Amino acid sequence: MKREEDWDKLTCDDIIKIIRNAGIVGLGGVSIPAHVKLSRGKGSGIDTLIINGCESEPYLTADDMLMKTYPFEVVTGIRIILKALGISRALIGIEDNKMAAAKKLTDAITETAPPEHISIVMLKTKYPQGAEKNIIYSLTGRKVPSKGAPADIHAAIFNIGTVHAVREAVVTGKPLFERYVTVSGSLIRNPGNYKIRIGTRISSVIEECGGLTGKPARIISGGPMSGYEIHDTDMPVTKETTGIIFLSRDQVYEGPFHPCIRCGSCVNVCPAGLMPCELGNGIEKMNSGSFDYMERLGIHDCILCGACSYVCPAKRPMSQYIKLALELPAL
Ligand code: SF4
Ligand code: SF4
Repeated sequence: MKREEDWDKLTCDDIIKIIRNAGIVGLGGVSIPAHVKLSRGKGSGIDTLIINGCESEPYLTADDMLMKTYPFEVVTGIRIILKALGISRALIGIEDNKMAAAKKLTDAITETAPPEHISIVMLKTKYPQGAEKNIIYSLTGRKVPSKGAPADIHAAIFNIGTVHAVREAVVTGKPLFERYVTVSGSLIRNPGNYKIRIGTRISSVIEECGGLTGKPARIISGGPMSGYEIHDTDMPVTKETTGIIFLSRDQVYEGPFHPCIRCGSCVNVCPAGLMPCELGNGIEKMNSGSFDYMERLGIHDCILCGACSYVCPAKRPMSQYIKLALELPAL
């Protein structure tokens, strides 16, 4: 495109094709191809676009940085997605610890004066406010059904990083070959949000960020609550890498876990209304016939937020068990 506003001359199908050819996927950590969401959403009764600006995991700040640094580009990206979906209403959910980002976006919306209805909704800062089902419910009062998708309740959802990448693809023709990653934790010398090429080795990222001040007890890809441990720094940055966190020995628990003491803490914190203790205990003893029982307990509604494992006094790894069970459907 020659000028920022030229994208408006494209048809919905042109936009979806550009997004597909640029390899744009969801950059919030799940990597669903954006063109698939848009193709399914177009003409399917979706009336609201939800923009996830919460980024509620500790340490992660790349989306906050994008909202503050590129507010006009984010607004353009939202308008492009609205056009691809053929709708005119977008709600941007932002946690109330990101007031500077909300102000920048508000000013950009005012100055752009788009013909679409784009509003910002401030949400309470709490984990996992940014989980897909949670933010949709917080913004619309609609509940995504069990095993369902946002489209089932006439919504589509994209995060800020994806919106920014969509704008880059459609306006400047840039494919998704790099992304913003939060590099943080107590052991990295120069923490920050870095634009990193997909495929870069973690060891090169460490070097570029000034090296480590000690040997990490754990390296996490993603956030510390829902991310996963990296054991080899030859692993590459992928489109799913929201963050790389280097934690020291005093920040992690390395002891054994113990039997459940039925305290109920995990039930109290589960945002999906599940019984993580039952799921964890069941998966621990799982055999070929017990997945049905897990399904009755609602295992498919788990959003893998990690809150249950975090609060458990017995240090039981429920969310890791659940992730394993969901990834091994043959069990
Ligand atoms: S990870 Fe635990 S707390 Fe989070 S939704 Fe799943 S069962 Fe509930
Ligand atoms: S928090 Fe841990 S110990 Fe308490 S009920 Fe849940 S699994 Fe059991």
